[in-house]
Amino acid sequence: MSFRFFSFSLSPVARISLGLVALLLSLLMVVDMVFGLIPDRAKLVRDVRQQSSESLAVQVAVMLQAGDVSTLQRTLREVLERNKDLRSVAVREEGGSITAQAGEHARYWAPPEDGSSTLTQVRVPVLADGRPWGTVELAFRPVLPETFIEWLTYPSLVALVVIGLGAFLAFYLYMRRVLEYLDPAKAIPDRVRTAFDTLAEGVLILDKQGRVVLANKTFRNFHPAAQEDMTGKHVLELEWLVNGFHVSPDDFPWSRAMASGTNLGDETLEINQPGEASEPLRTIVSCAPIQDGHGRLRGCMVSFSDVTMLHRINDQLLITLTDLEASKEEIRHQNEELHRLATRDPMTGCLNRRAFFGAADPLYATLQAEGEEVCCIMSDIDHFKSFNDRYGHAVGDQVIKSVAKCLGSELREVDMLCRYGGEEFCIMLPGSTAEQAAEVAERLRFSIENHAGAAVRDIPGIRITSSFGVASIKLGAKDPAELIDQADNALYQSKQTGRNKVSVWAGERSVSSTVEATHQGLPGSVTKATLPSP
Ligand code: GH3
Ligand code: MG
Ligand code: MG
Repeated sequence: MSFRFFSFSLSPVARISLGLVALLLSLLMVVDMVFGLIPDRAKLVRDVRQQSSESLAVQVAVMLQAGDVSTLQRTLREVLERNKDLRSVAVREEGGSITAQAGEHARYWAPPEDGSSTLTQVRVPVLADGRPWGTVELAFRPVLPETFIEWLTYPSLVALVVIGLGAFLAFYLYMRRVLEYLDPAKAIPDRVRTAFDTLAEGVLILDKQGRVVLANKTFRNFHPAAQEDMTGKHVLELEWLVNGFHVSPDDFPWSRAMASGTNLGDETLEINQPGEASEPLRTIVSCAPIQDGHGRLRGCMVSFSDVTMLHRINDQLLITLTDLEASKEEIRHQNEELHRLATRDPMTGCLNRRAFFGAADPLYATLQAEGEEVCCIMSDIDHFKSFNDRYGHAVGDQVIKSVAKCLGSELREVDMLCRYGGEEFCIMLPGSTAEQAAEVAERLRFSIENHAGAAVRDIPGIRITSSFGVASIKLGAKDPAELIDQADNALYQSKQTGRNKVSVWAGERSVSSTVEATHQGLPGSVTKATLPSP
């Protein structure tokens, strides 16, 4: 488990550095073995211990000769105090009894059976008068540390650790710099590169710091500046790319995808091309964070779909749609014009007879069925022929137009005004009584008499009047044609009785009567007419 953790948690650079340190230490050990690079501590210790033991034995022999046991005892104590390596020291007679000792000799003294010396158990023979008298026994501490704390301060180990750590640090920093672009984790095998190059989408693989690990062929073709090798560069260095986003560095889609650990898609990006007139490359950007087997973030795959052609087709479609809309409007306009031409009199703008009857017939039938009243006014310009004869047809036309305008301006929206003949007009008034219709006719008569002349600019002061006939459904007309006939008969009455008048049809047996003009002081009058049927 620990191995797994160790091998998978270290970065490749750290692992390479560790390997190099191990190599270096092994090399040092081999060189040491061959050339003795590090001094042999055991040999040094042995030499020192041997020398000091022998010189002590000489001293002991002198003191024994002098029979000075107390000085011998003191000397042994002083030697033990001064020599930190020494645990105990004793002088033993040949017979086995101890003459003098310092330290816990019984505890530390454990010599080999064969009577030889070791690095920690040293004995030096003492001679008296040329014959063996006894031995000086010295119990030294072991050369190698015995406790963990001692090991921590053991010079060779400290040197090894310092060299190891120092070398690791140096290797790590150096390798990191050198392997920045060659990190094995970032190395993409050639066959993978080739596979990416076959994709129609632009693909950019970034490491978690945002450095480019791979840019496929389609991506490299997005911009002339992308032709150079981008591997190892930070993505923010690709100005031609990042300038298309117009966002802060934290807001780039790959930054957001890596921060959230989720896929992001459908971000649009325009990559401007060099040259003023060049069309920008339009792409849709998707980002997918890349994780290793342990779910740790390693980088991000950014893909770019080129939708420039789609945009171009879209734009074309939009233009076509706009054109279509314009032609639709044009057709609608022309249809309106056609309808106007088909239903209106071109000179006056009044309804023509066909349109008038087309609307009046159903309206009349409806009002008749509902018991509603409807009236008709017929109007004819007085002595119109004389305008033609005196001023010509052009002025005659102007008179007709001017009269039509006066008639139109006095009517309601529901009323229908029709140019019935050359200078004859017919008006249908739905919902009006005979009295109301007579009032309307009188208003129209007054308006023509007082305003129509002024509109004929070519002949200043020209006097225009019209005669009117009114008929109501109440007197039994079964259809618009009959009602118009009755109104026309009343009009005839107006003509007969002096013109510039309004006459109301009062039925065949009715007695005609003249009604007072509603406009006081004016020569017009309203007459109730009794006329034979036409
Ligand atoms: P009255 O008072 O009895 O109605 O006399 P009038 O002169 O108006 O008599 P009439 O109805 O006989 O005259 C109509 C004349 O209008 C005949 C025709 O030449 C002329 N006319 C018809 N249509 C037009 C037109 O569109 N323009 C012009 N300038 N004259 C027209
Ligand atoms: Mg006429
Ligand atoms: Mg006339």
